[in-house]
Amino acid sequence: MTPKIERFLIERKPDTPCLVVDLDVVSANFQHLADELPGVDIYYAVKANPAEPILTRLRDLGSHFDTASIYEIDQCLALGIAPNRLSFGHTVKKKRHINRAFDAGIRQFAFDSIDELEKLSRAAPGAFVFCRFLTSNDGADWPLSDKFGCEPNYAADLLCRAADMGLVPSGVSFHIGSQQRNADSWDSAIFIAANIFSKVADRGLELSLLNIGGGFPSRYRTPMSELPIHTAAIKQSLQHRFGDNQPQIIVEPGRYIPGDAGIIQSEVVLVSRKSPDAEKRWVYLDIGKFGGLPEVLDEAIQYRIRTPHDGGKTGPVVLAGPTCDEVDVIYDAAAYELPLDLGSGDRIEILSAGAYTASYSSVGFNGFPPLKEYYI
Ligand SMILES: *Cc1c(COP(=O)(O)O)cnc(C)c1O
Repeated sequence: MTPKIERFLIERKPDTPCLVVDLDVVSANFQHLADELPGVDIYYAVKANPAEPILTRLRDLGSHFDTASIYEIDQCLALGIAPNRLSFGHTVKKKRHINRAFDAGIRQFAFDSIDELEKLSRAAPGAFVFCRFLTSNDGADWPLSDKFGCEPNYAADLLCRAADMGLVPSGVSFHIGSQQRNADSWDSAIFIAANIFSKVADRGLELSLLNIGGGFPSRYRTPMSELPIHTAAIKQSLQHRFGDNQPQIIVEPGRYIPGDAGIIQSEVVLVSRKSPDAEKRWVYLDIGKFGGLPEVLDEAIQYRIRTPHDGGKTGPVVLAGPTCDEVDVIYDAAAYELPLDLGSGDRIEILSAGAYTASYSSVGFNGFPPLKEYYI
């Protein structure tokens, strides 16, 4: 919560639920990361929050952009972002989308399979391609470990194949998992990357790019290592594993850039007990899994919640969304406690909600409209 957001909520009294993002915090987060990792190119992962005011802020700060679809590419190009500042970082793409991106001037593509390489060689001949490899996502609250990436040994083979197919194998990428708690994870992945570099070099190919992905945390319920802990671990690992022969480094922060910059304001719709003497209250909010909180799936991401009664006596609650779907429960096992004075009509704030929220909200499940967004 920033003074600017606080003022906006008081003066505008927006209808809830709504997301309010302070763009100055977005800029500050970008700058902080740039200062911590000098010489590293920042590719903002557009999917974290693709709102136009965020993209234009980052564009003006000199950011590059990691895109996952032709639609995100079109959006960036329409904002005047040059194609050489975009990478098509998804390993699963339609051939005609690769072709359209190539025609638009995009030259950097991710892959993790032979099928994708074949598509790339035909639809984007001569393009720079980097191979995503699998790495442990231990310590990440939102893992990205199984669906994308190939075994490291196979990555070396595929990169050599890419060269035979008329593509330029530029390097490797990985993702240590989103909302990563453990700064040691960087070194495990960078160690594997260095091994791939030397394996490929043994076969006469020089790689030049190391894309270390995202994973930098936002501030949720459990305190996390702050950014400098992560960036120090990265710098130390790069020095240790690559010495003075460091490749070009790319980083793809998603969550870190807008996460702490935004809050969601929500209204309590109902507080109920399943029996008159039940200790646990059910608190139904006007936002849930379908309205912009998909990351509460399995209670993985646990947001901090602010209420007008903070400081008063608390009791255990189940927090639930407003729709009539049984899965639309926010927190149960996570054992949240909220003030006993909380009642229907109260407005509460879900903190650090600027990433992976608005763009995930459904277009109208149960008739609830998509989450309203304000960028100030
Ligand atoms: C989602 C994603 C990111 C951003 O990850 P965060 O954990 O939000 O920083 C970066 N790179 C790729 C390839 C991604 O899919």
